[in-house]
Amino acid sequence: MTGQSVVIIGAGVVGAALADELSARGWTDVTVVDQGDVPATGGSSSHAPGLVFQINGSKTMTEMARYTVEKFVELDSFHQVGGLEVATTTERLAELRRRQGWAASWGVEAQLLSPEECVARHSLLDRDKVLGGLYIPTDGLARAVRAVDAQLSRARERGVRVLPRHEVLDVRTEGGQVTAVVTDQGEIPADIVVCCAGIWGPRVARMVGMELPLTPLAHQLAWTGPVPDLAGQTAEASRPILRHQDADLYYRERFDTLGIGYYGHRPMPVDPDDILSVDAAEVMPSVLTFTPDDFADAWSETQELLPSTRSAKVEEGINGLFSFTTDHLPLMGQSREVKGFWVAEAVWVTHSAGVGRAMAEWLVDGHCTSFDLHECDVNRFEPHQIAPGYVVARGCQNYVEVYDIIHPLQPMEDPRPLRTSPFHPRQQELGAVFLEASGWERPQWYGANGTLLQGREIPAPGDWAARYWSPIVGAEAQATRESVAMYDMTALKRLEVGGPGAVAFLQRLTTGDVDKSVGSVTYCLLLDTDGGIRSDVTVARLGPQHFQVGANGNLDLDWFDRHRPADVYLRDITPGTCCIGVWGPRARHLVQPLTTADLTALRYFRGTRAYIGNVPVTMLRLSYVGELGWEIYTTADLGLKLWDTLWEAGQDHGVIAAGRGAFTSLRLEKGYRSFGTDMTFEHDPYEAGLGFAVKLDKGDFIGRDALLARKESVTRRLACLLTDEVVMGREPVYDGEHAAGYVTSAAYGHTIGKGIAYAWLPASLATPGRRLHIGYFDRRVEAVVAEEPLFDPAMTRLRG
Ligand SMILES: Cc1cc2nc3c(=O)[nH]c(=O)nc-3n(C[C@H](O)[C@H](O)[C@H](O)COP(=O)(O)OP(=O)(O)OC[C@H]3O[C@@H](n4cnc5c(N)ncnc54)[C@H](O)[C@@H]3O)c2cc1C
Repeated sequence: MTGQSVVIIGAGVVGAALADELSARGWTDVTVVDQGDVPATGGSSSHAPGLVFQINGSKTMTEMARYTVEKFVELDSFHQVGGLEVATTTERLAELRRRQGWAASWGVEAQLLSPEECVARHSLLDRDKVLGGLYIPTDGLARAVRAVDAQLSRARERGVRVLPRHEVLDVRTEGGQVTAVVTDQGEIPADIVVCCAGIWGPRVARMVGMELPLTPLAHQLAWTGPVPDLAGQTAEASRPILRHQDADLYYRERFDTLGIGYYGHRPMPVDPDDILSVDAAEVMPSVLTFTPDDFADAWSETQELLPSTRSAKVEEGINGLFSFTTDHLPLMGQSREVKGFWVAEAVWVTHSAGVGRAMAEWLVDGHCTSFDLHECDVNRFEPHQIAPGYVVARGCQNYVEVYDIIHPLQPMEDPRPLRTSPFHPRQQELGAVFLEASGWERPQWYGANGTLLQGREIPAPGDWAARYWSPIVGAEAQATRESVAMYDMTALKRLEVGGPGAVAFLQRLTTGDVDKSVGSVTYCLLLDTDGGIRSDVTVARLGPQHFQVGANGNLDLDWFDRHRPADVYLRDITPGTCCIGVWGPRARHLVQPLTTADLTALRYFRGTRAYIGNVPVTMLRLSYVGELGWEIYTTADLGLKLWDTLWEAGQDHGVIAAGRGAFTSLRLEKGYRSFGTDMTFEHDPYEAGLGFAVKLDKGDFIGRDALLARKESVTRRLACLLTDEVVMGREPVYDGEHAAGYVTSAAYGHTIGKGIAYAWLPASLATPGRRLHIGYFDRRVEAVVAEEPLFDPAMTRLRG
């Protein structure tokens, strides 16, 4: 088998990894082209100092780093000296403990060290400056150019062509499909083109009209002259690579000198069009002239932390270019508009082999089985997130924050506000505290509800969980269960699907039977061909050939669009519509007088078109908070009127506006899963406790065959744990001393009076009553597996 004909643009560490992984899977009709010489092309990989710190809050990124380390070791392209991240502040020390938790969650060994142990590992450190450190024995130094060479050599042996000094000038397409790559040396036919062009990515992608949300930024890397305490060192490196994140610094050895990388300087974005050609660049295109003034603070901080450098000098330096994205994650996948045009961009050396493997699996098998890629898919962005101003602003901000301690709920500060629901002015009047989701301003709680606190005991969580939190969250949650609340649900993605082929299309793409009467609503899943969950959706049949789909994000739109036949139309109606969830035991009292629709006759999981006062609406009787009520949709122009009508009528029923904090607490009490957090591409419905949403007997659908095989072999489960302390998510779950799983979502359940944590566990541990512990900073929090749902298992509230 030779596979399809593939041209990879770029022979950096990413392009080389992809060529190797593709050819290892039998795809050998592959050509790698690069404008520079190979293996040192002049791109970012040619001068990367190659530090590989594997631990990341993202499970996927950590797993891709771990694979890269394993592969580079095998290729003799890795110097496994270990990695040490030191803390010089108490806040950083706590953060290192959190990072140690991630390591345990994702299965990488990591040890927390005392100051003495840090110095024993890295003798240049000043003992008195350091409060502790996190040591990862398998971290180390990647030899990036050597890894490029080794991977390209293997690929060549399998038949891959590597063409240095071939600059790609254009990518030809015909009927929306790539056909060839045009280089300065001639044309190369191709079924598939993969852009691995690093900082040049936006330039190459534009050849097919694709906007890549990526910003090249200059990053300072300097080298000292001889450091006295390193004198005579014959090994290239013997101490662990070192991070001093409180001062935005990292270090590596090179014999008796030190390399120093610095993220503390002003952001220096570069327009991809301004990058010089290989021949015009003085050193190489990805290297700009060092600006010593920007390095001054780095040098004094270095002399503080590593006293031996006080008698050394900074002898050389570069402002080297590499890519930043708007959310710190890579850009992978196929263009939505041009078939056959793929990208693997904004990838560090650290993750490069993992990305190569993921891309190869995706291309050869149609999906990636080794890693969950939902965070990395290039089609994840909302339209405003690829606006040039946004891309540069977010890229620069991410550069500044790369080593910062970021709270899981911390919203971006700028550019904001971007998207506001029609209810925004009323929410401001009610003192809403807004966080941000996909650009939407989303209330977390409302200051005006402070009055609800009277007579309530809302337990305060620990310091970390108390950030972006108020006791009002608890009061809003309780008030929802007591009377009625209005939740702004506008930020959730809504798609309209219609046309003669709509029923067959949705039957094929979802796990549910949606071919039911008009007015039916079906909760179901989108699966990949391997049975992994791509999303969970509600499909409301509003007409014989007309559906409204409640989805999770742009990837759902992309998935639908890719599979859509000509007799189906698809529209993202999110921006032009809005939604209020009216939920609580008094919801019917509030809404019924406003409409002629018979709301008692409208059963659970049914929908109807109606009027609320003068406002035409679509009402779906659903609730993620587990209470009687409806999602009420209207067009954006009438949104404010809808809010005012409900609000006014609600005054007699004690209505409140409630925020996302209360919503999360209530949904966890009901055991409702959230895609992207609780389950992802790597989980199947049975493991995730969503088997009820799969109708195997309805006929064929994407993922059905794979599920038939997976059904019988559940080895892990998403389980519900009760805790005394509130955690935040991603913490390890211990069975004795063994890290057995990790937390997904967590919150305090204000009705049940307990902390709740959902967690992935081996099936053998996911049995009610099983006692476990959650690793939370330096503590072990007791956790007990519980029967779910925790609240109203008989569903009397919802069906009432
Ligand atoms: C100073 C500095 C320090 C860094 N330190 C680290 C570190 O310690 N650890 C880490 O993990 N990462 C580090 N990075 C980041 C890392 O170097 C990059 O993210 C990584 O090398 C990108 O690899 P790539 O293959 O995507 O890009 P590149 O290596 O830039 O490869 C892209 C290739 O595409 C080719 N190309 C582009 N356009 C065309 C065209 N039109 N025609 C033909 N060929 C084309 C280029 O010539 C180039 O060879 C650092 C980066 C810098 C700048």
